[in-house]
Amino acid sequence: MKAFTAVRMAHFLIKDKLAAAARVIDATAGNGNDTLFLARYSPSTTIIHAFDVQQTALDKTRQLLAEFGLLDKVTLILDSHTNILQYGTQPADIIMFNLGYLPGAMHCITTMKESTLEAVQASMDLLAVGGIITIAVYHGHPEGQQELEALHCFLENIPQTSYTVASWQMVNQINCPPVLYVIEKLRGDAREGSATI
Ligand code: SAM
Repeated sequence: MKAFTAVRMAHFLIKDKLAAAARVIDATAGNGNDTLFLARYSPSTTIIHAFDVQQTALDKTRQLLAEFGLLDKVTLILDSHTNILQYGTQPADIIMFNLGYLPGAMHCITTMKESTLEAVQASMDLLAVGGIITIAVYHGHPEGQQELEALHCFLENIPQTSYTVASWQMVNQINCPPVLYVIEKLRGDAREGSATI
């Protein structure tokens, strides 16, 4: 039996929408597991963008996609997710964030609270009505703890008429189990009156 994790829960919540998605984004490609998931379960016409600031991460993602014959479906972008709006104006149906550092690589290259908040706000602008953003936060390291606090503070103040925001976390696990946030856009003019950083 495969128990739920924050990432598996994100995949579970996304999968239905993915089957009809026109555009999806992996904001943190890393080892490529989420990009592969997005590529595997979306239609052949879906536009997929995957961001990472590390060439190593994009190389790993490229290799994984190639193993599954899905490389042609994905555009890999060596840039920060803060620039997400520069890579196409078509609304995105699904945007995934899997925060933290690349497993097995230098821990000093990690997502940071300021850029994460900026990218999440930009993603909310880019999100289609009915679209979903998932954010898995690993808060067992100092930067992750700061990200969690900043994200929670920002997300809990988003007007409920514009977005639903939920969180999920295991409550009986040791060592800071990750928190998953799920943002769903309810209205087209959703950013009007939403909280600022
Ligand atoms: N989704 C990945 C997977 O399925 O394997 C795991 C992602 S890993 C936990 C986090 C990644 O975020 C790292 O590869 C890191 O280089 C990347 N990252 C850090 N800061 C970033 C930024 N500003 N923009 C985009 N990616 C960033």
